[in-house]
Amino acid sequence: MRVPLLDLRPQYASIKEEIKQAIDRVLETQVFVLGPEVAELEKEIAEYCGARFGVGCASGTDSILLSLMAVGVSTGDEIITTPYTFFSTAGSASRLGAIPVFADIDPVTYNIDPSLIEARITPRTKAIIPVHLYGQCADMGPILKIAEKHGLYVIEDAAQSIGAKTMLNGEWTKAGAMGHLGCFSFFPSKNLGAYGDGGMVTSNDESLADKVRTLRVHGSKPKYHHSLIGANSRLDAIQAAILRVKLNYLDKWSEARRENAKFYDDAFAGTDIVTPRIKDSNFPIYNQYVIRTRNRDNVIEYLKKHEVGCEIYYPVPLHLQRCYEFLGYRMGDFPESEAASRETLALPIYPELSDDQKNFAVKCVLEGSK
Ligand SMILES: *Cc1c(COP(=O)(O)O)cnc(C)c1O
Repeated sequence: MRVPLLDLRPQYASIKEEIKQAIDRVLETQVFVLGPEVAELEKEIAEYCGARFGVGCASGTDSILLSLMAVGVSTGDEIITTPYTFFSTAGSASRLGAIPVFADIDPVTYNIDPSLIEARITPRTKAIIPVHLYGQCADMGPILKIAEKHGLYVIEDAAQSIGAKTMLNGEWTKAGAMGHLGCFSFFPSKNLGAYGDGGMVTSNDESLADKVRTLRVHGSKPKYHHSLIGANSRLDAIQAAILRVKLNYLDKWSEARRENAKFYDDAFAGTDIVTPRIKDSNFPIYNQYVIRTRNRDNVIEYLKKHEVGCEIYYPVPLHLQRCYEFLGYRMGDFPESEAASRETLALPIYPELSDDQKNFAVKCVLEGSK
């Protein structure tokens, strides 16, 4: 039985007509870049996340880059983040000449450990980028307190966590509505995926949102008058129209992922496989379902042989990447991130998986880990 890590075709089949109508609507207007579809999506995403503003841009990576630009990050500034994330969390800081400063993760949630942040702060620290990894929010309460105490910006990398909630000051709050800016990706494999690249910045701060809005069009406002040096990072109208259709189904799809996660949790209970640990104060969206086992590489071989998709997120933590050699980190600096890189494995979790597929994946993981 083939069990792909992700298969987007059944989802497309279920919404094909609506998608085609949405694309046609854009084709009739011949407005392809920004415009009313993007403006509507921005409002809808902001409302969905419980943030006041949304600003569409070209990718999740650019949503981080534009956010850092909006808070004035430049050469020599330090940005504290996790080494156990997708590259662009730190890469975006580097593109502005800033220096990523890493703090290790909490091995239970794989998110940045807030108790390790304060020791990393220097007079040059400008911002903290917590990443809500795999669909579970980082521990935002303490992170926001530290940031406030030291006058730092908090930019949430919520690329994997649209719709995820966490308990903050006694209330359920969504990813992207807690920091100064929230960053989202519409890369096809995210829970809300476009049919190409796309991203969005959310914020409750009007002046920061305005700044991102200006920066995404070369810093020009009004047109051809450049108050800032920005980028070309705009969201396509066709992608926005597609996303507006898909947003209506997002909660249903994320619920199906939670049900799949429950299925796996139950199936692996009492075995050596460590399943994702979700804190009581978190409501996850399972962009990835990541297990942990010391036998990881044997499991991968076995899964490959039996055509069960899997992936390592992420095999090399950022402090050990070749391009970051100049930062001077060494193996052993962030033991929890390094151990996670050696022992974790993502299994298929997409909403349309059948019980047979899930059972087969479980069977293969257990056999492969013997
Ligand atoms: C996907 C992702 C990004 C980047 O998004 P793109 O749209 O691919 O540029 C950034 N951070 C994290 C944690 C991601 O998972």
